[in-house]
Amino acid sequence: MQIEGRKALVLGAGRSGIEAARFLSQRGATVALHDSKSVEHWSDQARSLREAHGVGLLGGEIPSWLLDQVDLVVISPGVPTNTIPARYVDRKDGEVIGEVELAFRFMKGRVVGITGSNGKTTTTALIGDLLKNSGIATQVGGNIGTPLLSLTETSSDDGWTVAELSSFQLETIVNFRANVALCLNVTPNHLDRYEGFQEYAAAKHRIFMNQTSEDVAILNADDEITASWASGLKANVVMFSVKSELDEGLFLRADELICRSNGKEKVLTTRSEIFLRGLHNVENVLAAFAAGLACGASPESMRQTVSEFKGVEHRIEFVAEIDGVKFYNDSKATSVDATSKAIDALSGGEGKTILILGGRGKNAPYAPLIDLIRNSVRTIVLIGEDADNIESQLSGVAPLIRAESMEDAVMKSFEVATHGDAVLLAPACASFDMFRSYEERGRVFKEAVKGMQRVVTA
Ligand code: ADP
Repeated sequence: MQIEGRKALVLGAGRSGIEAARFLSQRGATVALHDSKSVEHWSDQARSLREAHGVGLLGGEIPSWLLDQVDLVVISPGVPTNTIPARYVDRKDGEVIGEVELAFRFMKGRVVGITGSNGKTTTTALIGDLLKNSGIATQVGGNIGTPLLSLTETSSDDGWTVAELSSFQLETIVNFRANVALCLNVTPNHLDRYEGFQEYAAAKHRIFMNQTSEDVAILNADDEITASWASGLKANVVMFSVKSELDEGLFLRADELICRSNGKEKVLTTRSEIFLRGLHNVENVLAAFAAGLACGASPESMRQTVSEFKGVEHRIEFVAEIDGVKFYNDSKATSVDATSKAIDALSGGEGKTILILGGRGKNAPYAPLIDLIRNSVRTIVLIGEDADNIESQLSGVAPLIRAESMEDAVMKSFEVATHGDAVLLAPACASFDMFRSYEERGRVFKEAVKGMQRVVTA
């Protein structure tokens, strides 16, 4: 792809837009970076591009004289593809691509692509570890954090890039091809941006669109949508299931995770060896094993890695054990559905769960939690602005306590917990009433737990 001499407009001044602007200007393009926010509200990193790389910075409206000159638009995942500048340049035969597509054109080696509604980050991180620990040259990026563009220079012909891909990122690929592509599940999500469920599912399906018969497509046999895709793909399909034994593929039978191929079975690992909790994580592990096998990772090494993989920060992350009480941070559980998965994942253990719930509500009913709470929650500790609403919906289901702050919530949880219990932060709400982000909320929780641990064990 020719970059030198092109007139490029990068839409979105976030992480991937910054990387795209830098990448293009370093290779000789004239670059303007645009964001709908006015420039004084951009990050320092974005604003420094003007001095460091001669990138033009544009906030608000883009003048049409400028659009007339542009022949390449690079769209960040947060920006809708039907935005006016993209449509304008597309109509006059300019090239309109996403940051992932641009990265792909400069990336050496092979690619594992991971998408799905839930579990992408966990599975991406795990696949990265499976390959690395098998001695395969591996780098991990995409939606998980590091923009793929920043990995092009360090990519190598014999290595693999493991890429987490959101449906937004998949919308703007053109030639991007994943040698191994995985879709974990497709459940209603982001319906604010898509016309409907079909359109959202179609965006996810694009991960398979440039695959050939030399590639591998991994699909969840238990998910109605992904299962229905199996017959229409060019790639070799590998299915996984936690619900039924497959004639061919990877599945869970009692405690064992099994791979069956050409009538032969192999036990990959057992459920009790997996550090991550919950059946949804068994799905992620099966999918990751399928990807690892497709990339040539060694089954023995993968078994070891899965037993040690502690998951990703803020996703049912184990924090500490104090006097027989375990603390888990699932600050990423910003919806009722994610909270129910986390309660379920911790149930069945020795004790019960103390659930820290609340924050900025999303107008979704809390009733789907009732059965799970009855079965395995000892006490609910409420924080944040939706506490009254939660109390009115869950009163009588379990004892409810109010807390003034995260530190207070941690202390009150510990007070009511008994030996063998788990304290779980899985708020089912957004964090913005008390914190800047779910990450900050999770870190404050962890600091509070560690602080209390120092006091208790002193
Ligand atoms: P994503 O990157 O797709 O948002 P994460 O790995 O960050 O996914 O997990 C986010 C939350 O989604 C987890 O805390 C858990 O509650 C839930 N989750 C993880 N894996 C799965 C799965 N395979 N199926 C359903 N839910 C899942």
